[in-house]
Amino acid sequence: MNRATDFAILREQDVVYFDHAASSLTPDCVVDAMHQYYYQYRANVSRGVYSWSEKATLAYQDARETVANFIGAQASEIAFTSGATESINLVANAYLLAHIKPGQTILISPLEHHANMIPWQRLAKEKGCKLIYIKLTKTLTIDWASLAQSIEENDCALIAITHASNVVGIKNDIQRIAKFNIPLLVDGTQMVSHEPVDVKQLGCAFYVFSAHKMYGPTGVGVLYINKAYHHKIMPHHTGGGIVDIVSYQSASFQKGIQVLEPGTPNIAGVVGFASACEYIKNIGFEAIMLHEMQLMKKLLPLMEEHGLKTFSPHQHVLTSFEVEGVHPHDVATILADQQIMVRAGHHCCMPLMEKLGVNALTRVSLGIYSKEEDIDRFIDGIKKVKEVMQL
Ligand code: PMP
Repeated sequence: MNRATDFAILREQDVVYFDHAASSLTPDCVVDAMHQYYYQYRANVSRGVYSWSEKATLAYQDARETVANFIGAQASEIAFTSGATESINLVANAYLLAHIKPGQTILISPLEHHANMIPWQRLAKEKGCKLIYIKLTKTLTIDWASLAQSIEENDCALIAITHASNVVGIKNDIQRIAKFNIPLLVDGTQMVSHEPVDVKQLGCAFYVFSAHKMYGPTGVGVLYINKAYHHKIMPHHTGGGIVDIVSYQSASFQKGIQVLEPGTPNIAGVVGFASACEYIKNIGFEAIMLHEMQLMKKLLPLMEEHGLKTFSPHQHVLTSFEVEGVHPHDVATILADQQIMVRAGHHCCMPLMEKLGVNALTRVSLGIYSKEEDIDRFIDGIKKVKEVMQL
């Protein structure tokens, strides 16, 4: 199985797109769903009594059901945001800011994307709290004994950790972390398009991800908040649509996490987001995982055979690598000349780069449109890199 034909951009252009982890491509059905909104019922939600607005409101509500259902949540437990970055910032500002006490600790891992690091750095500084990094083993997995010790020795207000790393593809055992009974935020950005996620089974308080990394549109994402935390959520951005009563000098707000969605939402984006969830569901995770794992089984030995250095036990559908003696940006540029699209840089994980002893890496990441011949073209591309760099 590969689903390249579902994507107009791939039908029309002959490229190898190995940058799924930065942003996935968008299949026709998702573009069509958004197109339909703009062409057939382009109106605001919740306010109008005319047919377009009613249809938009219904589509928005249905989309909330579909997206929540995709991660095993109830519709009332998710807020739409602009993406994972905003979702994490909301957990910091609409939840933790009001509840963390000076001296308490936020625990995160060195694998985190800056989006799941900087909000905690800032909050810890503002509130006089500690930001502690979970110790990793040599193979970049969690050092469980050390984690247990950190939890024992500190008054932890939150653990914030990625479900899957965007650089080395390590997957974290979230269920095991949840057993420590500390409020837990999981960054699912790199997981949701590849494996089924059930937030209830995971046992986390918060789960975040972006639509654009799971075949959906840009500019829309999700913040899941377990019901047990809803009474602790404060509005962060304020404005229309989330109030009970507003007077000249003050306002009172509705109850529930809808207070996280003031103003007019990204209606087309949310409709497209739901369509992306349906697209994935229709293909089925069994087929997706089988396809992507088969590709990785072909890719990884070939990378090794061609002397590419990678950095972790391979658990996921992406890997970062070095071609010895060649700057990652040169690798990416020479590959780009051959219409092979990969990403090079620090991948918004500077502390992890430091841990790995590098400034930058080149990353390949696959999706359901990836094909066996893409891998052959990539390996030919690497040969070309070596030839151009006279290695
Ligand atoms: N977390 C991880 C693991 C990511 O890979 C990314 C995107 N690179 C983000 C968070 C931030 O996602 P977004 O830019 O969509 O907000």
